[in-house]
Parts: sequence; C-alpha cells; structure tokens
Amino acid sequence: MDDTYDMDAQANHEGLKFCPRCAAHLEDRESRGHRRLVCPNCSYIFYLTPAAVACVLAEQDGKLLFVLRRYEPGKGQWCLPAGFIEVGEQPELSAVREVKEETGLDVKITGIYDTWATNEDPRTPVISIAFTARVVGGELAAGDDATRAVFFDMSDLPEPIAFADHTRIVRTYIEENRRG
Ligand SMILES: [Zn+2]
Repeated sequence: MDDTYDMDAQANHEGLKFCPRCAAHLEDRESRGHRRLVCPNCSYIFYLTPAAVACVLAEQDGKLLFVLRRYEPGKGQWCLPAGFIEVGEQPELSAVREVKEETGLDVKITGIYDTWATNEDPRTPVISIAFTARVVGGELAAGDDATRAVFFDMSDLPEPIAFADHTRIVRTYIEENRRG
C-alpha cells in the first residue's frame, strides 16, 4: 500500500462482478430484505457486513494522543489512533496494537467509551469501538500508517480532524472531562 492507492479499488463492495466461489456473473438482487450480490449458479450470497475498527482515546498529563494520517481516507489529517480489528483478534488487543504501531507507545486499556456504526470510510461500512487508555510505556514515534504522533492539549486540538465521528467522540470526551 503506497500513497497513491486507488480508493475505489479498495472499496470491498463495489465493482464486484464474479462469484468468488464459481466465477459466474453475480446478480444484484433483493435477498432477505437487502440488495445483495447473488450468484445464480451456486447460490453464493455476498453479504456486505461492517468491518470492526478499534480507536483509542489515550491520555497523558491531560493531553490526548493524535496521529497524522499517511493514507486516504483522510490523508494529511489528524485522527485518533485506530485500525481494523483482525479476524480472531480481541478488540482490546487490536486497540493496544494499533497504538503501538502508529505511535510507539504501550497503553493499558481502561474502558470502552463508545461504539457506533458509520459509513464515513469509503472502503467499507464500519462499526467503531472507542477505548479509553493510559500510556504505560514505549517511546513516542510515529509509524505504520501515521506520519506524526503528537499529544495535543485538550483546549488546543489539531486541525483538521479526519472523520466527523472522531471529531464528535473527541469533543464529547473533552466535554465530559471538563465536567469531571
Ligand atoms: Zn457461484
């Protein structure tokens, strides 16, 4: 994956033509209440289901950890450390792994803050789980799909923030913090 990858080619549900099981042409049909791609030959149904994402509100000395995105969507914009949960991976461990990969820091998850469904990512519908965390080790150094990793004062957030949902979650978190 490089800086120029094609967003349309990454969308996991658009432009699919052939059955992945038998290679017959898929048909766009009504199936169990939804439009789905269905194989008329072997009855394979392409169920478009949301991918799960872990994102992390990692706080240290009253500051919140953000990363600058290396890739689309939201390339060159800030967001919370976040990433797709792998098959078989426990969501909490995904959260810890993503923070480590993108920021070099070790975190301890302290809670689940919120969950929501979104269509903000053009690659796939998403279910996001936001965790709260505190930093327990590591050295701050951007990596993987982050070009920078920075703690920002909660009264002086970076701009622009990549996703409306991250903006919302950060604002709510800060607001609740203020109220104690
Ligand atoms: Zn088929």
